[in-house]
Amino acid sequence: MALASSTATAHAVAHTQPHLIECRDCGKVQHVPALAPGDRATCLRCDAVLRATRVDPFGLPLALSLTGLILFGLASSMTLMSLSSTGQHTAASLFSGPLGLERYGMKALAIVVVITTVAIPLARVMGMIAVLLALRMLTPPAWTKGIYAIVEHLRPWSMIEIYLLGVFVAYVKLISMAHIDLGPALFALGALTVTMVAADAVVDDHAVWEAIGRSRGPGRKRVRSAGILGATLTRIGCHTCGLVSRGRDGAHCPRCGFRLHHRKSQSIARAWALLIAAVILYIPANLYPVLIINQLGSSQPSTIVGGVLELVLAGMWPLALLVFVASVVVPILKIICMALLLFSTQAGATWGLKERTVLYRIVEFVGRWSMIDVFMVSLLVALVQFGAITSIAPGHGATAFAAVVILTMFAAECFDPRLMWDAAETKAETDA
Ligand SMILES: [Zn+2]
Ligand SMILES: [Zn+2]
Repeated sequence: MALASSTATAHAVAHTQPHLIECRDCGKVQHVPALAPGDRATCLRCDAVLRATRVDPFGLPLALSLTGLILFGLASSMTLMSLSSTGQHTAASLFSGPLGLERYGMKALAIVVVITTVAIPLARVMGMIAVLLALRMLTPPAWTKGIYAIVEHLRPWSMIEIYLLGVFVAYVKLISMAHIDLGPALFALGALTVTMVAADAVVDDHAVWEAIGRSRGPGRKRVRSAGILGATLTRIGCHTCGLVSRGRDGAHCPRCGFRLHHRKSQSIARAWALLIAAVILYIPANLYPVLIINQLGSSQPSTIVGGVLELVLAGMWPLALLVFVASVVVPILKIICMALLLFSTQAGATWGLKERTVLYRIVEFVGRWSMIDVFMVSLLVALVQFGAITSIAPGHGATAFAAVVILTMFAAECFDPRLMWDAAETKAETDA
């Protein structure tokens, strides 16, 4: 059994039990020694972080989450930005964007914006608070498992930080058009972003699941039966809680109760289907305008690339570059990289396994940032409504573009990077 490498803090007291962890990226099951607070165990094969222990794994995330909840209350109840032009005045809050889109009949896009910027961030903060408070009990209630699984699963779909960048792009675009006043909600949103990123950074998922495991759920008996049967069953790392147990594909995890899967089921086929759908939608996303500026009777549609060109012509180079990278480069690269990962896995490629794994991590992390344009459109639509003089309407390109981002995010989520390592291993065995 391989022993994961760990960087230890000097003189700190070891506080975790030695345990097995299956690397989420390459699938290697490794023995992680007892770790002291602040230690980091990395995968021997692909260098992924297997576990990072924290000095205060429950108290600090709880304090940050409670702060986040208060900031969320402030951010959602106050003004984000107000705009005055030719004697008229408009103001936007966190909900104005989705409401503006809905007014123009773009319900689907309104729902996407409200889910990613309000519903999911709020659900995550509240779920985290509920779980961390419940862990203070002697035996945490059984519902903590389901709630924490949701909190972890929703992580990439909470897009407050991307929304904030979308607000910034909208702000820079509007500076030349009208007088803008920044509202208190914007500062609350900025603080909320920092708090949420910090809360995610200081929480030790493994410690939370270990604490949740103390609860007497229906799975207790299965731990023992699975152990006795051990010799004939394979080791499976739980996708939800990370516990490595001996079990069959489709059995329930002894700790969290969710189904065990050796690898994500139908990973390649599902990722391909989602990716192809994204490629098809990428065409209308770029052909149709993402917004339409109506000015004194004339209407001027603007596509994604057109929006970048407008910024270049206005001399806003840094912003043009940011939007170009987020809206043009990232989606294209993401589609190409996902196709490369899928092809190479199907071909059983043995080259660059580590590099391809890193590539997957980048694709997974970067993809969501393309939503900047969508959030910017929602805010412009909410703010620029000066009757016949100037108004901005959303275009169907924005809906198609949001669909491309979401589909590629799902494709990355469906893809199981461990299959690359499995495929390479199988190929090496058959060749030998
Ligand atoms: Zn690994
Ligand atoms: Zn589990």
